[in-house]
Amino acid sequence: MTPVGDVRPLHVDAAVVGLGPAGSTALRLLASAGISCIGIDRSTFPRNKPCGGGISARTLPLLPPGFLDEIPHQITSGISLTFRGGPSQNQDFGRPIAYQVRRDEFDMQMVEAARRAGGRILTGVETVSARREGEGFVLRAGDRVIHARAIFAADGATSRILRDLDPESTRHIRDHPALRPFTSAEAFGTLRHPIDDRHVAIDLGLVTGGYAWSFPKKDSSWGLGVAGFLGPLSDPRGEFARYLESRQAAVGESDVLTWPLPNFRSVRHGRVPGLFLVGDAGAILDPFLGEGIYYAILSATRGAEALIRELSRKDRETEAAVTRASTAYAHFVKGTLWPDFSQGARLAQVLYRFPGFFFRITRRHPGLLALYASVLTGKHDYRSFSRAMILRTLFLLIPGRTPLSGPAL
Ligand SMILES: Cc1cc2nc3c(=O)[nH]c(=O)nc-3n(C[C@H](O)[C@H](O)[C@H](O)COP(=O)(O)OP(=O)(O)OC[C@H]3O[C@@H](n4cnc5c(N)ncnc54)[C@H](O)[C@@H]3O)c2cc1C
Repeated sequence: MTPVGDVRPLHVDAAVVGLGPAGSTALRLLASAGISCIGIDRSTFPRNKPCGGGISARTLPLLPPGFLDEIPHQITSGISLTFRGGPSQNQDFGRPIAYQVRRDEFDMQMVEAARRAGGRILTGVETVSARREGEGFVLRAGDRVIHARAIFAADGATSRILRDLDPESTRHIRDHPALRPFTSAEAFGTLRHPIDDRHVAIDLGLVTGGYAWSFPKKDSSWGLGVAGFLGPLSDPRGEFARYLESRQAAVGESDVLTWPLPNFRSVRHGRVPGLFLVGDAGAILDPFLGEGIYYAILSATRGAEALIRELSRKDRETEAAVTRASTAYAHFVKGTLWPDFSQGARLAQVLYRFPGFFFRITRRHPGLLALYASVLTGKHDYRSFSRAMILRTLFLLIPGRTPLSGPAL
């Protein structure tokens, strides 16, 4: 095996660019299956990533066993919902709906898990570029040249690999304003009047076309932020400042970061054989809650599984195997994730346009809030969520009836 640090060209089956939750997952699974692979990131770990750090409960089965035991985390089992900073309605579901972590710690541990699985890793590589050559790809990672049969682009919301390998796709985003990313602002801070740290706090109505959040961390700090899902926020810092004021929260001004949230409609999958666009690089981010960690890990898992499956077959040496794998992965994204995200985007159009209505209805009928949380536990996706929501709301219209009861989580 060629040692890392050697400048001779390296030949691998798969190169993974970006080692956030998506890339580290792909690398761990590929290495565990004995696929020759390398993971590259421009950062050195631990590194921060602007994020609320809420890991939904449905993510756990996709992580290595006992993974969260290795890092500090706060369990949240309820929601505290406010409307424009007013009085909250709290609901505890009696079981975890999300685990609150700091991304520097979580991502570092994910990279370590990939390393333990045998993935070779290059970090602190300032420039990485890729081009198609013959049936495969050539990557330049600093002074290294890497030949790969498949590439996992896991380099986040501003993916360089997507720009290099499918420039037409990036032009398409530039030409269509509706495909531009959503915006957010966030920082860690403290609350002058602490709230229940077993709950995620969500405010509707303060942020135009989106929501504001306070997620508790194990060290008593809070991940605070705002995001808009009906279009880019015109002034994310201003909206964030208003939220901080309403929460009486303190953050260091220089700690406030704004960051894009990719719009799932912007990226076209399956255009380049052998290219797996995973996580934010593939715009695989839920357009209703802005949840991306679960989808980063899920997409990387499905992509890696498809490649492992094809490379385990007898004809693994043919390039057709890699193409079949990337095609199967693109089908998964377009056939399973996109229809659900389309429904999530429709819900966003209703909820973030009429947040007061949603707040009032959940105050009268808390069961609807449990339904909301059921997406995070994996009991519902947006399509089944919408069906259940409509059914319950119809029941409310029948005089003398209460909403259907029963476990939502
Ligand atoms: C303010 C905010 C709050 C959020 N809160 C939540 C939340 O609470 N829960 C949730 O589930 N999701 C949340 N998200 C979404 C979540 O952060 C992302 O969806 C998730 O990080 C995507 O993971 P990823 O691995 O695809 O990309 P990333 O985590 O962005 O990782 C990309 C990696 O690629 C590397 N990289 C970038 N460019 C290059 C390059 N050119 N060459 C080499 N390496 C490169 C970076 O250093 C990084 O390590 C939030 C997002 C934002 C902006």
